[in-house]
Amino acid sequence: MKRPLVPPYVETLKPYVPGKPIEETEREYGLRNVIKLASNENPLGPSKLGMEAAAKALADLHYYPDGAGFQLKRKLSTKLGVPPEEIFVGSGSNEIIELLIRTFMGPEDEALISAGSFVMYKVALHAHGRKFVEAPMKNRAYDLDAIAERIGERTRLIFLANPDNPTGTWFGPSKLEQFLERARKANPDALVVMDEAYFEYVTVSDYPDSLKYREAHPNLVTLRTFSKIYGLAGLRLGYGVMPAPLVEYLNRTRMPFNVSSVAMAAGVAALDDAAHVIRSRSTNAEGLLEVTEGLKAIGLDVLPSQANFVFVETGRPSGELFEAMLRRGVITRPIPNYGFPTALRISIGTREENARMIEAMGEVLGKR
Ligand SMILES: *Cc1c(COP(=O)(O)O)cnc(C)c1O
Repeated sequence: MKRPLVPPYVETLKPYVPGKPIEETEREYGLRNVIKLASNENPLGPSKLGMEAAAKALADLHYYPDGAGFQLKRKLSTKLGVPPEEIFVGSGSNEIIELLIRTFMGPEDEALISAGSFVMYKVALHAHGRKFVEAPMKNRAYDLDAIAERIGERTRLIFLANPDNPTGTWFGPSKLEQFLERARKANPDALVVMDEAYFEYVTVSDYPDSLKYREAHPNLVTLRTFSKIYGLAGLRLGYGVMPAPLVEYLNRTRMPFNVSSVAMAAGVAALDDAAHVIRSRSTNAEGLLEVTEGLKAIGLDVLPSQANFVFVETGRPSGELFEAMLRRGVITRPIPNYGFPTALRISIGTREENARMIEAMGEVLGKR
């Protein structure tokens, strides 16, 4: 018998479904001025300082990048107050998620994730043929007790997104502290990966900066990205903060030049662009209010969010609604692959984009 081309876990792998691109939508629907509120991108665009640095870096494209990421790590080190040896730079934080799985999990190990959270954890685990256990959510938010209960001897990685994607919900410092204590008692070898892709957008005070818990919890890994508030999603740049020995292991399994020179140059400059971050955060905070109120006013159920998107419960299969919105030139994100077949995830845009989205939604639902 002919040998199968791929292992069973690749055969059954469902690929990640990205947000629908603007150009594709315009082509397929014969539209112009389509707006995309589907991938949690920064509606204000990239940091200008980042763009200028990227343009300047083009003159050196014939050189390989600095594989050690010296400048970017130095900058991050100063900004975050952590030693450069404890920083790992990746091609988006997605690459680091994948490298953590590849590096720290053996065939007998398990990862622990929250059902309904960021789907890339599952995709990456599946792609590596690794086992995972899913804990249920509670009221569409992380249930840290349910996760802690499932920590066992084989648990190697625990992924926690805070704020969560796609729900936008978050958990506070006391919940996290309790969880870290429980996790340490249940299995001190399990690494707790705090995925803080939306960290810079958070405005509430009851939110934990996981970097503060590093000393007490040496099993902690913090992931952040330049894709969201810094507006550099197209360049692929993210970083992880973790004990130096972990960084060393990731350095063994990564490709030698996993991050491009242009991305690193843009990242260094973007970290200095405080004005862009502040403007992005306040635009988002205002947008969150407008969008939440606007959608609630037309009868939709919207979860509280500390990210740059909202989770909207539509009470019907969301595919049709998504389609109807596309025809009006507004790309949203149906999330059946996250286990929410009746919900849409909608990114916060500019004021004009938000208004257009709410108006289109009102038309589609016949409430205008
Ligand atoms: C957007 C996002 C990321 C970032 O991905 P990049 O690879 O850095 O673009 C990571 N985790 C979550 C939960 C996200 O929503």
